[in-house]
Amino acid sequence: MTDFKLPDLMTRILDTRDVSPDLGSMLAQPKRALGVAVPLRRDDGSLDVYPGWRVQFDTTLGPAKGGIRFHPDVTAEECTQLAFWMTIKCALLNLPFGGGKGGVQVDPKTLSPLEVERLSRNYIGAIADIIGPDMDIPAPDVNTDARIMGWMADEYGTIKRSHQPASITGKPVCLGGSEGRSQATGRGALIVLDAWMKRQDRKPEDVTLAVQGFGNAGAHFACLAHDEGYKVVAVSDSRAAIHSQDGLDPQKLLDYKEREKELSGALYADSSVKERDGGEEIEQSELLGLDVDVLVLAAMEDAVTGDNVGDIRAPVVLEIANGPVSVEADEALAKDGKTVLPDVLANAGGVTVSYYEWVQGRTGERWSERVVNERLAERMQDIAERCFDLAAEEDIPMREAAYSLAVDRIADAVRSRGDRT
Ligand code: GLU
Repeated sequence: MTDFKLPDLMTRILDTRDVSPDLGSMLAQPKRALGVAVPLRRDDGSLDVYPGWRVQFDTTLGPAKGGIRFHPDVTAEECTQLAFWMTIKCALLNLPFGGGKGGVQVDPKTLSPLEVERLSRNYIGAIADIIGPDMDIPAPDVNTDARIMGWMADEYGTIKRSHQPASITGKPVCLGGSEGRSQATGRGALIVLDAWMKRQDRKPEDVTLAVQGFGNAGAHFACLAHDEGYKVVAVSDSRAAIHSQDGLDPQKLLDYKEREKELSGALYADSSVKERDGGEEIEQSELLGLDVDVLVLAAMEDAVTGDNVGDIRAPVVLEIANGPVSVEADEALAKDGKTVLPDVLANAGGVTVSYYEWVQGRTGERWSERVVNERLAERMQDIAERCFDLAAEEDIPMREAAYSLAVDRIADAVRSRGDRT
């Protein structure tokens, strides 16, 4: 189907916890992986066809759930890896979902807004048979946002000839999206960081942050963290990095980027944080090695690998991207006594509010932003505390604690379902 190897950490957990030996075989490959050819009629009349995928890694706990990314590096293997992480994340957060992920191998920054809309609709057309509110519910991921989810949900409703608000999450609020969804990943990461700092008796005012990545998650996290009193001393985007020992104002940077995007009419920001006053420009790689209290990784996979892990000086690493620390780097950080607040916990705010959106879509209820944020905080604080406790009790890294809690939930559901083989 697709090349996938269960991470060694997972194999170790399955071997040591009280779970059925069948679980390892069940999770050794995705439950379903669909490869599709996605046609796109370009504005100049020519035709492009891009490869795309949708992978449902596991559906023991419920329908598959996970984002759709548009990126030149998307492959079947990457979707599978990301769908595996979604499986762990949804189980850890106790959501009634399995894990999925999809994407199209394309650089959407080279397309016009109308072309991105056609591509989004055609991708949904290609995978429509295997998605739906009770089967697999897509959402935003890298280079996809609320506007794109709106087009996708509209297309899915057209194909099914019915209104389908719970088929896709992360939609604009006017189309049945949830209040608070666009800030949810950043907000959730801040809740986890707050819980950790509280355990260490540290106040936000005494904590410095360097944030790699200024997309939806990184930018909202930086703004919310700054509002709460944390000192954001460096941020980077795909074009540059800036640094100021006195602290930056992330809201000003975000406002600038959003205004530039609006003025240009483009779907993707072409401006960079470096164009806004507020700090001196540094090399992007330098940001990773800054002497800060927390390094926040909110860009892409494998930002920290065996090659650059030696540069990291921050004692705490907060993973907002999926998989920003390679396995080798993760082991090196653990050996060094550094704390990694892992992606499956730290970036779970997005899928948690997606779940709230799905609930609202199915019931027709509308929750206020206050209710959404309160429910998000309550759930994430509770799960974060459980991870911290288990990590302390068993003297294991936080990622292992998070995976262990998730595995226990999946194992329990597998046991309760009985033998389906
Ligand atoms: N793409 C996000 C993630 O990796 C959100 C997924 C969702 O909301 O379903 O967690």
